[in-house]
Amino acid sequence: MARFTLPRDIYYGRGTLDELKNLKGKKAVIVVGGGSMKRFGFLDKAVANLESAGFEVRLFENVEPDPSVETVMKGAAMMREFEPDWIISMGGGSPIDAAKAMWVFYEYPETSFEEIIQPFSFPELRKKAKFLAIPSTSGTATEVTAFSVITDYSKGIKYPLADFNITPDVAIVDPDLAETMPEKLTAHTGMDALTHAIEAYVSTLNSPFTDPLALKAIHMVFDYLPASYKGDKTAREQMHYAQCLAGMAFTNALLGIVHSMAHKTGAAFSTGHIPHGCANAMYLPFVIKYNAKTAEARYADIARSVGLTGNSDAELVQALCDKINKYNKILNIPRTMQEFGVNEEEFLQKLPEIAKNAVGDACTGSNPRAITPAEMEKLLKCCYYGTEVDF
Ligand code: FE
Repeated sequence: MARFTLPRDIYYGRGTLDELKNLKGKKAVIVVGGGSMKRFGFLDKAVANLESAGFEVRLFENVEPDPSVETVMKGAAMMREFEPDWIISMGGGSPIDAAKAMWVFYEYPETSFEEIIQPFSFPELRKKAKFLAIPSTSGTATEVTAFSVITDYSKGIKYPLADFNITPDVAIVDPDLAETMPEKLTAHTGMDALTHAIEAYVSTLNSPFTDPLALKAIHMVFDYLPASYKGDKTAREQMHYAQCLAGMAFTNALLGIVHSMAHKTGAAFSTGHIPHGCANAMYLPFVIKYNAKTAEARYADIARSVGLTGNSDAELVQALCDKINKYNKILNIPRTMQEFGVNEEEFLQKLPEIAKNAVGDACTGSNPRAITPAEMEKLLKCCYYGTEVDF
């Protein structure tokens, strides 16, 4: 049996933050991050809208990037005391992911991270509250997905939570909130969205339900990302919708090894964190070459649908890779890990461990072509040196 799950309502367009005036309920908690939503006045506006709808509102502020188990537990404790019937999360991926996990521990105080780590094993939510998400960045699409990532800093591990129970009830996709994104974040999150759509399209779980969403998202990213990067407001708006469409595809079709590699290399090197979207953008053309052995026709579909031409599927796949490389260049994204500044000696020393971890990542299972740790080492080397993938 396959399942396709999305939020019941997605409000989109400029000014849709005002939809909060029409929400029905008594008590709402708003979960936010470090302060940009407050600084730009969106938090005050959300509070005012909810109060005009008769809500008693409480804030949970300062969720950190890569939210911790402690933050989640603090938020859940606050919710158990306040007893909200709506959880509203606003901002980048982090506060929304944190709020999703708080929701679980608010409704089920006795459960533990270990118990919900098994994908699609959550207890049934919505006994106490519903969930509304308002994204301020155009990339993760957590406002429509069944995923959340929480970090246990004491154990040095990330819990990737996955269950349709945490797919939000309502998403408000208001492009006004995304206008404040800096240039670099726009580039990285935009390429993250492209990667979501391409990985969903070739995933082993792709379906007639997810394909149109993925393809439309790919078209829109190619059409609008360069102008959005330069600050064009209309393009920014379209990118905010494109990333949401990509999210609707990958929450149901899942992802692949571009994400496995980005997850395991992101925090691996002493030379600095590789931002998620930047890592995806660098690895994507190499992974396409690797996966093309089994998924060539699907990549060729994508290439044709964005107007590329070629005399064979192999030529179309090459044209798609060339196009992605061209976009990375426009967006000032390095082509390889070496160019990014990862130290060669450190890379080679950590490579076996990283390759093993990447193969074991939750995203590897739905990749169109299977991969062994030895092949993953070779592939990561190609991504480091920029050499041809020929295996
Ligand atoms: Fe991603």
